[in-house]
Amino acid sequence: MTSLTASHAADLVAALLFILSLAGLSQHHTSRAGVVYGIAGMVLALVATVVVAAQSISAGAVTLIVLAMALGAAIGLWRARRVEMTQMPELIAVLHSFVGLAAVLVGWNSYLEVEAHGADQTRIGDDLLGIHHAEVFIGIFIGAVTFTGSIVAFLKLSARIKSRPLMLPGKNALNIGALAAFVALTVWFTISPNLPLMIAVTVLALALGWHLVASIGGGDMPVVVSMLNSYSGWAAAAAGFLLDNNLLIVTGALVGSSGAYLSYIMCKAMNRSFFSVIAGGFGIEAPSGGDEEQGEHREVRAAEAAEMLAQARSVIITPGYGMAVAQAQHPVAELTRRLRERGVEVRFGVHPVAGRLPGHMNVLLAEAKVPYDIVLEMDEINDDFADTSVVLVIGANDTVNPAATEDPASPIAGMPVLRVWEAEQVIVFKRSMASGYAGVQNPLFFRENSSMLFGDAKQSVEDILSALGTGGRGDTDPSARQATVASH
Ligand code: NDP
Repeated sequence: MTSLTASHAADLVAALLFILSLAGLSQHHTSRAGVVYGIAGMVLALVATVVVAAQSISAGAVTLIVLAMALGAAIGLWRARRVEMTQMPELIAVLHSFVGLAAVLVGWNSYLEVEAHGADQTRIGDDLLGIHHAEVFIGIFIGAVTFTGSIVAFLKLSARIKSRPLMLPGKNALNIGALAAFVALTVWFTISPNLPLMIAVTVLALALGWHLVASIGGGDMPVVVSMLNSYSGWAAAAAGFLLDNNLLIVTGALVGSSGAYLSYIMCKAMNRSFFSVIAGGFGIEAPSGGDEEQGEHREVRAAEAAEMLAQARSVIITPGYGMAVAQAQHPVAELTRRLRERGVEVRFGVHPVAGRLPGHMNVLLAEAKVPYDIVLEMDEINDDFADTSVVLVIGANDTVNPAATEDPASPIAGMPVLRVWEAEQVIVFKRSMASGYAGVQNPLFFRENSSMLFGDAKQSVEDILSALGTGGRGDTDPSARQATVASH
């Protein structure tokens, strides 16, 4: 078997492993196997690529490639070990930006190579030169949009910039104009390739990527992350065409199409228009409502909350990003256990985009050994709030915001939310009156049946546990029954 045939066989096996990986990642119980398949496929792909490259380049160049791979692997391992669960989405955004940047560099390299040596001296040949130039342009365009879009996503997800949507005047016209300019430039470049056009398309795509993601509000960021995942796949596929690497084309297409499908599913779950989100919030007008307070809120202390819980018949806990920040899942699990021992029915209601990653809350609750059967999805539990004594909103905000269903002008209007306000009592655990990730104030905090329990969520739950003591129903400090009313 020649090394080329062996490399084709390796490509095929790697592609199959990537498909198995995607299949594995679609279910909780097979996800670990999915990750292992993905790693195996990538190792095989890298080895095959280096072995084939070694046939036609110098030993010095191979050494440089291996050194670069070792350096990249070391940095990747170091970052992956240190990253907190709450920082995962921003890490993913950075990784997408690398794929985009790589596609831009591959495109530029392909163009410069043909310019320097002439098409007949490269594998492209004169016949395919027009197609090659179109590929260069498309690859650079998708790569540059992915690069700056992912950087804005990183800045928004890490709270380095505000998550509120950027609303430039005529933003839809700007996006459509940029797309039209790209098509015109591609035709021009295919007919008459030149350096100023290369610079123009790169700058245009960098600006468009920035604008597309900057125009999307915080509530839609989960869809943006999966959309950028899809873009990074298409960018990799475009680079595969330029490098004549079949495996890169297959892998890029797998990532691109699965990311697009995930974006579509998330749009449906969040009642968003798929086209509007991929087109940078196309058709969405400037949202109203900021994070100003909307009335008076009521405060409770931990002892008072413990008293309410001790008297409760049924409790639903709705966790959110703040539970992950506070790492409150273990005391929350202990509180659940204690309440159930007292005969209180306790269940969890998990919103599909609670936290900063799909499945974020489920992972934390599973880690704290909360039984699976009391952790319910939003659709399974939403009708039960009206028949619930106490809801504990632990570090959730946007996902329990009634403005999504009641205020058509809200940036999160139309997003399905957990209808916690229908319960008899709601206790909101957070540190301040600050808004959630989408940057909109939450009218829930000002409702008659809501009370704020201010402080770090972990500390607050531990205080409730101390106040509950170890006794039976009603075993709490009676002096704590008087609630404090705070006026603002
Ligand atoms: P939010 O991000 O809306 O709000 C979290 C709340 O937690 C804040 O209001 C904050 O208030 C509070 N908080 C933070 N730290 C602590 C702490 N240590 N103790 C107590 N409270 C704390 O949470 P949700 O989970 O409800 O909503 C998720 C949001 O993130 C949605 O807008 C979603 O679209 C977006 N998103 C989701 C992604 C996903 O895939 N799941 C990905 C990207 C974005 P305070 O500062 O006052 O304490």
